[in-house]
Amino acid sequence: MSGATTSHKVVIIGSGPAGLTAAIYAARANLAPLVIEGEPSSTSDQPGGQLMLTTEVENFPGFPEGIMGPDLMLRCRDQAAKFGATFITEKVTKVDFSRRPFRVFVRDNQYIAESIIVSTGAQSLMLGLTEESQLIGHGLSTCATCDGFFFRGQQVAVVGGGDSAIEEATFLTKFASHVTIIHRRDSLRASKIMQDRAFKNEKISFLWNSHVTKLHGDGKLSGIEVTSTIDGSRSNLDVGGVFVAIGHRPNTDLFKGILDMEGSGYLKTRSGSSYTNVDGVFACGDVQDHTYRQAVTAAGSGCMAAIDCERWLESQHS
Ligand code: NAP
Repeated sequence: MSGATTSHKVVIIGSGPAGLTAAIYAARANLAPLVIEGEPSSTSDQPGGQLMLTTEVENFPGFPEGIMGPDLMLRCRDQAAKFGATFITEKVTKVDFSRRPFRVFVRDNQYIAESIIVSTGAQSLMLGLTEESQLIGHGLSTCATCDGFFFRGQQVAVVGGGDSAIEEATFLTKFASHVTIIHRRDSLRASKIMQDRAFKNEKISFLWNSHVTKLHGDGKLSGIEVTSTIDGSRSNLDVGGVFVAIGHRPNTDLFKGILDMEGSGYLKTRSGSSYTNVDGVFACGDVQDHTYRQAVTAAGSGCMAAIDCERWLESQHS
């Protein structure tokens, strides 16, 4: 192997709110963490994570006027750097957690680590339409809790037929004048109780057997094209917002066969902590949380991981 090798007390993989909060805490504990933050792309496993794909964040405590998602992440990064965290803007290509110290590889460079914090996040599944990358954060969203407020009095659509779609749609009725749920089949996958709630809600209607096939709008979403899965007929729907709720995928491919995962691919952590099944490897943020998925909960779990990690390192040296 011809690449460089460096040694670290903590290597943090991923740089969303969880990874950067872990970096701030680990840096302030004099652990000089190395953050391998990912590389720029249009998906949520890029540096800064899913918040890089949002516009305004209004629910992060401490910012009463709101803050742009990318700006929030840049501030967290600066805060970690100020206390001594260092960054590599590349993607991890392989890990070896079979013995200690652990090894993390970026191509042929090797990072040797006494401990690891995994914060690689998750990505929302998308529809695969070419306009998505331009319109995400500009009328196209994957999080009603985050963005619903911006659609007061507007007509919006939610895509999907599972619990997430119904939950998002029901939440959106607090703000939107009307919510259309667009589902590719004629029956929902969501739990019965949530279905009943949606059927009873006067602000929600359903467009069955339909796919969204085009997003209209130049710089800002102005409507969508919907195609029937039965006869292929097309129609346009004037909506100011579209919420895609067709599921999430945790970024855990690197850890398959290495860290314990749930069937859905989320990392398992020991209840009430960030410990994984490998001693010295901790996980935080959306990569291990399919329930809350908020920036502030991710940040909180990043803090937990750094504290768990610091205490674990101390126990190894005492
Ligand atoms: P999900 O249950 O996998 O549902 C995804 C939905 O999106 C399905 O209806 C699916 O259609 C549709 N879909 C998938 N790919 C699509 C595509 N390319 N185009 C159009 N539609 C597509 O995902 P989820 O709703 O995010 O839920 C994930 C898990 O979290 C579930 O276990 C759920 O129960 C749980 N959850 C629970 C709550 C709660 O209890 N409050 C809230 C949210 C989530 P088909 O039905 O045709 O497959």
